[in-house]
Amino acid sequence: MAPRLYNTLTRQAEEFAPLENNQVRIYTCGPTVYDYAHIGNYRTFVFQDVLRRYLEYAGFRVKQVMNLTDVDDKTINNAHAAGVSLRDYTQKYIDAFEVDRDLLGLEPPEIMVRATDHIEDMVKLVETLERKGFAYQSEGSVYFRVADFKDYGKLSKINLSGNRPGARVDADEYEKDDARDFVLWKAAKPGEPSWPSSLGSGRPGWHLECSTMAMKFLGETLDIHSGGSDLIFPHHENEIAQSEAATGKPFARFWLHAEHLVVNGEKMSKSLGNFYTLRDLIAQGHKPSALRYLLASVPFTKPLNFTFDGLHQAQKSIERLRNFRYRVTMEKFAEGESAATRERARQARQAFEEGLDNNLNTAEALAAIFELVAEENSAMDHGEFLDGDREVVLDTLERWDRVFAVLDDQDFVKLQRHGLVWMKDEAVAVEAGIEVAGRNGHTQMLADEEIEEKIALRNAARRSGDYAKSDRIRKELMDAGIILEDTRAGTRWKRR
Ligand code: AMP
Ligand code: ZN
Repeated sequence: MAPRLYNTLTRQAEEFAPLENNQVRIYTCGPTVYDYAHIGNYRTFVFQDVLRRYLEYAGFRVKQVMNLTDVDDKTINNAHAAGVSLRDYTQKYIDAFEVDRDLLGLEPPEIMVRATDHIEDMVKLVETLERKGFAYQSEGSVYFRVADFKDYGKLSKINLSGNRPGARVDADEYEKDDARDFVLWKAAKPGEPSWPSSLGSGRPGWHLECSTMAMKFLGETLDIHSGGSDLIFPHHENEIAQSEAATGKPFARFWLHAEHLVVNGEKMSKSLGNFYTLRDLIAQGHKPSALRYLLASVPFTKPLNFTFDGLHQAQKSIERLRNFRYRVTMEKFAEGESAATRERARQARQAFEEGLDNNLNTAEALAAIFELVAEENSAMDHGEFLDGDREVVLDTLERWDRVFAVLDDQDFVKLQRHGLVWMKDEAVAVEAGIEVAGRNGHTQMLADEEIEEKIALRNAARRSGDYAKSDRIRKELMDAGIILEDTRAGTRWKRR
């Protein structure tokens, strides 16, 4: 196996091998933990999981570092609005991220770190940049001087020559010498968390967090750095500038970027409001393994258009594979081995590996396995599949699943482990006193007071003859598992 990976830095697919010791050092930009991650984020995280699983499959050892961005404007604002400390606020979403990762079968990175646990290292990196003349202070903040880093733009191929000093692009930029310059360290503001340091009291800029944590845990030159394509500019461009200016060495050898999950042609994002969380899908009765399959099925270099039809198809595809494995394992076949089946299994394995070698072309890898399924189902139907063929076919499936990780039906066990159930099992859940995951993860179970309030509203609507409204409320309660019974003594209710 010789994986070839498309490197954003060189704009071509290159044969991949790690720099040292058969160990691949990967840095992946993690989530900003201000809310539940949406399934667009998971497109990128699933791609990174397929990447690491295939590198392991190919015989490399993987050391992956993922950061958790737990300090930025969004986390600070949301924690403030919720009236809790930044640490406590972000912990909730870090926990939720861990649950989602488990549900989606994402292998744990070897190292997962909170940005705020490494502030001192970030300050040191800024000090180095100051010493080397790449950084300057202004109004208590520290900025990176882009004009001094001659390779700026090499990743994104962006041409910023129009933005010369003096060409200030917006009002926030007045402290900078040059509109292109970006902040390394932000001066403390009243009411915001800050850390005392030699740079003055303040907090790190987002780009600085990643450069620092990547180099701290993986060394000055990484094998692979990865994220969604929205991170190419300015985030990764700035990471390169900071890291290379400080060390004089290449920061990352391969830059891999996943194209976006889109909805009706637009990037799924919190700000557009066109997003689903994994919990939203679970609440609608979809399985995490189906989402994993769907997200993995489109090669990472292509945008993935999310539809519920696609999610249903993914579920069907998994069932087809599971049924096939069951049949190969359980059905009775005549004694012997068939050379034809063995050859087809060998070819399927080869095609699957070649597909993934080809810049992780998961669509090719899927096609290879489904071709085998069709051929061997037909062989079984015609009595041509023999008892001794089981092993080689099951081995091919097992290899395929080391990367795709969907063949074992673990959704229910995992959901239970995390105290989550599908909405369709709500009645069971209510009885068992288990939390039901709902929109954006908020529990759908109504408190007694809320139920009584709704019943009062419904009765008022009935009294005033607004039956459409009273029916609507009844249905709403039904959907939440509450059954109403109108008696002469008034309305009684119970949980389903
Ligand atoms: P964030 O939590 O915004 O820092 O993003 C976490 C990861 O998700 C980054 O690698 C982003 O590039 C990626 N990402 C965000 N939106 C999408 C999307 N719609 N499709 C694919 N990846 C995305
Ligand atoms: Zn990053």
